[in-house]
This record gives sequence, C-alpha cells and structure tokens, in this order.
Amino acid sequence: MSDSASLVARRRQFAIEVIERLRSFGYQALFAGGCVRDLLMGREPSDFDVATDARPEEILPMFRRVCEVGAVFGVVRVVGPPGVGEVEVATFRSDGAYLDGRRPESVVFSSPEEDASRRDFTINGMFYDPIQDTVIDHVGGRADLDAKVIRAIGDPFARFREDKLRLLRAARFAARFGFSIEAETWSALRAMAPEVGVVSVERIAQELEKMLTHPSRSKGYGLVRDAGLLDAILPMSARAAELEGSWERTLRILAALPERVDFATALAAAWIDWGRIETRRIGATGAAEYPGHAECAARLARLGGRTLRLSNETIARTSRLLEFQEALWAAPELSDAQLKRLLIIDEIDDLFTLHRAEARATGRDPAPLDWAERYRIEQPRGPLDPPPLLTGHDLKQAGLRPGPKFAEWLDAVRTAQLDGAIATREEAMALVERLRGE
Ligand code: ATP
Ligand code: MG
Repeated sequence: MSDSASLVARRRQFAIEVIERLRSFGYQALFAGGCVRDLLMGREPSDFDVATDARPEEILPMFRRVCEVGAVFGVVRVVGPPGVGEVEVATFRSDGAYLDGRRPESVVFSSPEEDASRRDFTINGMFYDPIQDTVIDHVGGRADLDAKVIRAIGDPFARFREDKLRLLRAARFAARFGFSIEAETWSALRAMAPEVGVVSVERIAQELEKMLTHPSRSKGYGLVRDAGLLDAILPMSARAAELEGSWERTLRILAALPERVDFATALAAAWIDWGRIETRRIGATGAAEYPGHAECAARLARLGGRTLRLSNETIARTSRLLEFQEALWAAPELSDAQLKRLLIIDEIDDLFTLHRAEARATGRDPAPLDWAERYRIEQPRGPLDPPPLLTGHDLKQAGLRPGPKFAEWLDAVRTAQLDGAIATREEAMALVERLRGE
C-alpha cells in the first residue's frame, strides 16, 4: 500500500471508531457529504466527515481530545492519533435564514433528511453507514453521480441566493469530476453570477486556487468564464474578447500545462494575453503589434493579484513569469550574460513549463526552448552563476571611494565575466580602471 493510501485507510479507520463511539451512546452516526461522494466514485476522500443526532454538548464528553471551534453551528472536531488529523462531527441541522449571501444566521438541529437538504449539490448530499455498508440518499445523489451531473439540491435559484460561494463550487466540482451542470442549475448559476462579489475576496481566491491547481484547470476556467463569474471577479478577464482567438488560446495553454503546477504558473497561463490585449495596435505594415506586452502583462498581473489579495509571493512569481513570457523564445539570440542571468532566476523551471505549454498549445516552434534547455544543462560557455570576480569590498580595498558608480562597474564586470570576456581578478580590475577613465 502506498503511503497516501495507508494514511487514508488510517483516517477512515479513525472516523469509523468515532462513529462506533457515538453509536455506543445510542446516537445515530454516519459518514456525510464529500467523503460519501468520493467513496462511491472510488476516489480517496480528503477528509471523513461524520454527521450525528448527538448535540455538541453531548459529543464533547465522549472523546478525550476534542476541539469545539464550530459548536454554535453544531460542529465538533475530534482529534485523532498523530498524523491522522481530525474528524469533523456535525449535528444534523437545517440552516436558518441566510442574510448576507454567504452564511446562515442560525442553525436548528434536525434530522438526516433536513441535513441533506441544506447541502449544496445532490452528489454532496448523501450519507453512508460504514458498518452496515449502506448509502442513505434523500436527494437523488446516487443517480446524479451515475449520470455525472452537478445539480443543486432543491430550487437552484434559492440555493445560490442563500450562499454565493456555491456558484464557484458548482463550477469547481463540474471541472474536477468532468461532470456537466444540470440545465436549471446552470441557468440559475448564470443568472446569479454577477452577485459572486458578496463572497469575500479571500474565499474567491481560495476557490480559484483549487480550480487552477487541479489538472482540470482548463475546464474549470472555461466554466467560470462561461457562467459569467470571471467577469464579476476580474474585470480584466472580460476583455479577452477584444483579442480575436485569445480566449481559446488561453484555454489550450492551460490544458497543455503538466498536471501538477503551482498557482502562480497556472495564473500566468490564464493571464498570458493580458498584456497583448492592453497594448495591441496596428503597425505600419498593417499587422498587429504588441509593444512591451510582456512587461504590461506583469504589471496587470500585479494589479489582478492585489485585487484577489493573493500572497506577495504568488503575485511576484506570477508577474515574473509574465514579464519573461517571451524570453526563452529568443534564447539563441541573447548574449551569454543575458542568457545566464535569465537561466538562474528562481522561476526558471516554471518559465520553461509555461513556454512548453504554449508551444504545445499553439504549435509555436519549440526549437529555441530545446536549445536553451541544453545550454542550461551542458553550460557550454562556462557556469551559469560563477562566484563574482570582484565585490564592492575589493574596490574599497583598491582605494576607490564607494559611490553610485560602484554598482555600474560591478555590473559591467559581471557581464564581461558571464560573456567569457574576462576570467581573472586582474582582468576585472583592469576593466574597472578602464571604465573609470571613461
Ligand atoms: P472537497 O473534496 O473539496 O473537500 P467536499 O464536498 O468535501 O469537497 P467541503 O467544503 O469539505 O467539500 O464540504 C463538505 C460538505 O459540506 C460538502 O460535501 C457539502 O455537503 C457541504 N457543504 C460545504 N460547503 C457548502 C456550502 N457552501 N453550501 C452547502 N453545503 C456545503
Ligand atoms: Mg471536504
């Protein structure tokens, strides 16, 4: 058994022990929600949630290590053995009125049937009894799972109106599982999409990250756009229509990324044309030109990243990848110093990934990428990042007075070194002397 499979088995075992404990006190207890869906699909659940008719104050004394973070909402966390994590035990409940478009004002403890009907989609609304091995399905989840359909439980308009996060969840689940969205659910989703802004930016960004870091990212991004969600979240995305073929190209690049990429790389692919959209103009020859589009994309990505309140690191990485989105195509024409400086940036692996995806998606000739990759590995013109020949300290030792010129000289020395024009300290000092003379 692989490590992850054995971990899932241990978590499942611990969740079953929790269920047995609840039952030994005479309560009902079942697996609920996403884990039931995953088990029925033959997927590894990320966590096992338990639903019960016991109240939080009744659950708490049954277990040695518990955490009552969500007790007002009827949620208690039972802490498992080291490495196994926690199992969420939630009292069957129905939600009170939703006043803020996101969370219920109150909850009422209730039956499994009512608990199922407060959940978002039918495939997420089932229970499973792991001891009897039976599925308890009050919402038709099983049939929708077989038909590969995302369907809101109850009236889709009402359900999206209650909690607008569900708009994004619908798209994410459809993409993740390759399911379609049932017609009425889809109509409601499209109608309600402009209101997604009531969801906190942080939650929106979290959903976007889950969607874009999943291998189904192209389908997910396509769905959020077709639903009208993307326009509501990021106005810049709405402008893709200004550039003929851009949207299709972007989706193809997203689809051509490897299965696993980080959020920044996926975002860079999703936003790859932002600079072209902004800088497009018709040149003297009548052909479209995009002067400075890469730098422009990098700037727009910083704005987009700040709008979504992404981490500084994600913003910086995304904008760097966009800033250098043309760099590797031109690798064979760069000087050694330029190329070496490019090949040592932190984002270089992801930059290759992004270029490769573009080559696969658009048919752009990958020869310059192959060439740069070989250069990077074989380093035919000396190491990419050799120890510097001179430092500021050396210049001071040589009796030069520190000043703004220092950085300029050292940079010139570094360039000459990387180009292979000089190789020793003496040659470096001679170069500085020459520059001083000029
Ligand atoms: P994942 O694998 O992404 O964790 P999940 O279905 O387990 O998927 P969670 O966010 O962990 O999703 O939620 C667990 C369950 O709680 C869901 O399956 C669903 O029944 C219910 N749920 C979660 N969020 C909502 C929501 N916004 N509205 C209604 N029900 C929800
Ligand atoms: Mg879950």
